[in-house]
Amino acid sequence: MNVYDSERMVDSLGEAGFALTEEVDNADLVILNTCHIREKATEKIYSELGRYKKQKAKNPNLRVAVAGCVAQAEGDEIIKRQPLVDFVIGPQAYHRLAKIVSRDQPHVDTDFPTQTKFDALPQRPVVGRRVSAFLTVQEGCDKFCSFCVVPYTRGAEASRPVQSICQEARQLMRGGVREIVLLGQNVNAYRGEGPDGSDWSLAQLINRLAEINNLERIRFTTSHPLDMTDDLINAFVECPKLMPYLHLPIQSGSDRMLKAMNRRHRARDYLAIIEKIRRRRPDILFSGDFIVGFPGETESDFEDTMSIVRQVGYGQAYSFRYSPRPGTPAAEHDSVDAVVVAERLDRLQQLLRLQQRDALRSMVNHVVTVLFEKSGRKPGQLSGKSEYLQPVHCNGDKRWLGELAKVRITKAEANSLTGVLI
Ligand code: SAH
Ligand code: SF4
Repeated sequence: MNVYDSERMVDSLGEAGFALTEEVDNADLVILNTCHIREKATEKIYSELGRYKKQKAKNPNLRVAVAGCVAQAEGDEIIKRQPLVDFVIGPQAYHRLAKIVSRDQPHVDTDFPTQTKFDALPQRPVVGRRVSAFLTVQEGCDKFCSFCVVPYTRGAEASRPVQSICQEARQLMRGGVREIVLLGQNVNAYRGEGPDGSDWSLAQLINRLAEINNLERIRFTTSHPLDMTDDLINAFVECPKLMPYLHLPIQSGSDRMLKAMNRRHRARDYLAIIEKIRRRRPDILFSGDFIVGFPGETESDFEDTMSIVRQVGYGQAYSFRYSPRPGTPAAEHDSVDAVVVAERLDRLQQLLRLQQRDALRSMVNHVVTVLFEKSGRKPGQLSGKSEYLQPVHCNGDKRWLGELAKVRITKAEANSLTGVLI
């Protein structure tokens, strides 16, 4: 979502006369768009900020802003800890960015305004964009998992109206986009105002977006098991533009841990959802998130996580060491020994890597449909994604960029596939 937010910031600053530069040396304004989800991400910001001291000495007009969830969580503490920061802007305030950065004085804006930023942001300009684009449809979270900062930094669940999303999607299509990834912290909790005035579900939104001609593919992330409704499961069968890939985090396979995490479902409820989806769409590829070393996690709890991974069989996954976050209920409990956590994380990641490798290998000799996104690293090579979000490389003419084509897979690498255009 920060990638999406950063693009919107660039778009809105464009109206204020700024242009994007990749060179810090040329910059008049540097914005660090930050993540607060784990401590490691947060700490990186301060080491990164230190690097701009030199730049500021060279160019006294340089302004430095911290945006995103760390800005929201730490507010003016950031300026106190690192006085070279001029502006602190929370994730719900960046539609005011142009105004804020024109100020002479340091400024902190971390309000949650009643009017959503999406109503205030300018329409997205038609510019050549990547083939695949993110589009935020839902933000915030009301679930309050005991380890997580999202409900505090992004605020309460809110969904954008269907028409505003469709309008933005059409703008993206004019810039050459062919795939849209719908984003939300709990994207499947989407309940946005439909054209008829009633609240629409994510499945209804997807079906409406699928009517846009040039839009070839739709994906969405991240989903919560509790919001995996039947109409959304049906969309994987009934909407050919919705790709057969689902990121559905469980965090832990232990019911005891799930309860302590306040996930509000058991391992078997999750497995029942997976089975239900697989029955309807056997080829779907699942991805997940796991937290290792949540306070109180025993060897037996961890084994339950390994067991759920074996039962599901993931094509892709993200796994994290538990990170205590200030202000969350779980942070008040004692941590599991760091050496034990490292060893468990290693075991889990080995298993997940094997599963990813098997999923890639199972594609060899099969034909997949690839949406080509860019030229490959080698001359004459193209690179894109299969229906299952697996990176695919093959030789082909550049005119295939932005197009769908059938590819026979000849080889599986550690993280990608190689094939031939057919
Ligand atoms: N809403 C999504 C997840 C959003 S946060 C869901 O409920 O599934 C993305 C991922 O970051 C989470 O799935 C979790 O695995 C990880 N995460 C969040 N807080 C964390 C913490 N305190 N320590 C370690 N990982 C964390
Ligand atoms: Fe965080 Fe996801 Fe839980 Fe919400 S549902 S609190 S975003 S982990």
